[in-house]
Amino acid sequence: MMTTDILITDGCLLPEPGTDRVTERGYVAIRGGRIAALGDMADLGPVRAREVVDAGGAVVMPGLVNCHCHAAMTLFRGLADDLALGEWLGEHIFPAESRHVNPEMVYWCSRLAAAEMLLSGTTLVADGYFFADAAARAFGATGLRAVAAQGVIDFPAPGVPDPADNVRVAARFLDAWHLRDRLVTPAVFAHSPYTCAPETLQRAKQEAGRRGRLFFIHTAETEGEPALIQDRRGASPIRHLDALGLLDPLTVCVHCVWVDEEDIAILVRRGARAVLCPQSHLKLASGIAPLAALRAQGVVVGLGTDSAASNNSLDMFREMDVCAKVQKAWTGDPVAVPAKSILRMATGEGAEVLGFGGCGVLRPGAPADVILVDRNSPHLTPFYGPDLLVYGTRGSDVRTVIVDGRPVVRDGRLLTTDLDAVMARVRALAARAG
Ligand SMILES: [Zn+2]
Repeated sequence: MMTTDILITDGCLLPEPGTDRVTERGYVAIRGGRIAALGDMADLGPVRAREVVDAGGAVVMPGLVNCHCHAAMTLFRGLADDLALGEWLGEHIFPAESRHVNPEMVYWCSRLAAAEMLLSGTTLVADGYFFADAAARAFGATGLRAVAAQGVIDFPAPGVPDPADNVRVAARFLDAWHLRDRLVTPAVFAHSPYTCAPETLQRAKQEAGRRGRLFFIHTAETEGEPALIQDRRGASPIRHLDALGLLDPLTVCVHCVWVDEEDIAILVRRGARAVLCPQSHLKLASGIAPLAALRAQGVVVGLGTDSAASNNSLDMFREMDVCAKVQKAWTGDPVAVPAKSILRMATGEGAEVLGFGGCGVLRPGAPADVILVDRNSPHLTPFYGPDLLVYGTRGSDVRTVIVDGRPVVRDGRLLTTDLDAVMARVRALAARAG
């Protein structure tokens, strides 16, 4: 007799999104925070389970991976729309951050973001912001698996009034969160090659690298950035980072909109990761990243929502849909990036970007990060196959979420958080910011 903590029955299993593996009527057994077994209901022997979750035909799949977010910026959702990146950052976001960002704001606004993400099926996020300690506490308290990265920038920043301290603050954060919470992994997030000097980037990368932690950086986001970096440093953003010795499999280049063939070849050669944020790129009119070329050359690519201020949603189902359709229109090729590839980027490949090789798939021994997507609705009827998860599904179709073997969303309700109280906190903060 098998003994398990949780037994999910009668689900349509999608254990490796992006492959053809589907079990129409299957089960998943979870024990000690990991997948213990999975398979066809017909093969399920006697089981003693502490909790049985009847999926009732819902899709049972790995939780989604959001590879780039600034969770605390939920406070600035809708504060300044319809602006170009330079004006948006310089005249709205940076001033609002200097006035309103403090540990309390980061904690409550990150809790709101974590709630939004869990409720829409994201179980692993990579976040970068200031007061990363408060963000990390918020993710742990909400039950979301997270990489929390401390922001580094060569300007006075929230919590780092003197930029000379920026790398030291990040290093202290890495040490303080080393093995502190099994759900939260610390990292470093350097803002960009145009806001950080070469020495800052190298020191930040060294602190992350010597501890085996990830190093994130916004790279080649806008059309003007390559010319700017060429002018200042004599190279494209990617070639500049490469010349500084920053590119390796623990470096994540976020955006990669304005990269050329040689940049892509360098990313491949160094094993550096790329993350695209399609809706943010569209909203800020940054451009459209050459996703098909990146993937064809062999770059490991993840998807991210970016912040709620530049999206304005943290729903990864929306992100997948937009990414797929924009690539078709832009390349003029409806098969350039098929739904299967997008599903992989939002699950297993995204997890690989973040160094969580076991996440993003359901297999025995993998961390039990599982979501149930209800198909019993008009917009998901009929359901011929997983492509509809990309082209027709919404985050609100997610009914059950399990992270690290622990149910955190049941029947569409968040179990770990008094959501009304969190929203009231954020509304009160917004009353001061707006
Ligand atoms: Zn960003």
